[in-house]
Amino acid sequence: MNRRLFLGAVGLAPLAAMAAEPLRAVASFSILGDIVRQVGGDRVAVTTIVPPNGDAHEYQPGPADARAIAAAGFVTMNGFDLDNWLARLTLSTRSKATLTVASRMVTPRTLPGSTVVDPHAWQDPSNGALYAIAIGDGLASADPAGDAVYRAAAERYAAEIMRLDASIAARFPAIPVEARRIITTHDAFGYYGARYGIEFLAAQGLSTEAEPSARAIAGLVAQIKREKVRAVFLENMTDPRLAQMLARESGAVLGGTVYSDALSAPDGPAGTYLDMLRYNTGLFVAAMGA
Ligand SMILES: [Zn+2]
Repeated sequence: MNRRLFLGAVGLAPLAAMAAEPLRAVASFSILGDIVRQVGGDRVAVTTIVPPNGDAHEYQPGPADARAIAAAGFVTMNGFDLDNWLARLTLSTRSKATLTVASRMVTPRTLPGSTVVDPHAWQDPSNGALYAIAIGDGLASADPAGDAVYRAAAERYAAEIMRLDASIAARFPAIPVEARRIITTHDAFGYYGARYGIEFLAAQGLSTEAEPSARAIAGLVAQIKREKVRAVFLENMTDPRLAQMLARESGAVLGGTVYSDALSAPDGPAGTYLDMLRYNTGLFVAAMGA
């Protein structure tokens, strides 16, 4: 027997018996990381760069992030100017990974009278379903052997998101329109508000990077009093002091902590995208119905 051939055959056998290495996937922040996990299942090993309760707006990537991207076969970011640092990092590491902009099929929301795009599209579950489909497509390009698995999982998960959307929508008609006003620290719930007919007011703009002026805060306090807004919410990834001050100055109650741009830790109340939507909705309904 040819010795070289024999060794080759022995070398191949364990490989064939082993499960394929999981696809290394990197997501810019925790909400996307969960969507990749739901769609990719056992075929992917997901690394999330901005951790649970972290702020993707202000994130400064470090060397460990560059290493994760250099080793990845699939990378996904939100887009709409939330996490451009991920695209820069993917370029600078000369990564060969498939890069998917998860929001690529979403119609963006702009602020009235402005061309500035609101990046928080995931807060409308119908957009979350589009993220799932886009991520399924991207995983299939990165790992063609799993094409059918990824596409079926994305369809299934998108349908689950839409069932939750219907159950969320069913909770608001009982609440009078004039009670459907909520204050948050930064303007992260515009898509949610547009989907379900709730007006969200925020102390900060679309990003957490700029501090609101004293004048803007005074104006918001006056508006809370005038419009009898009942609740001010803290956000898991922003400084609580701004919301606490707004509640104190305006007499509105603190409605609790909602999850805007990041999930909770896995054992917290919003460890997955679907749990985040459920949990936030429960707090909003409780505050508006009070
Ligand atoms: Zn945000």
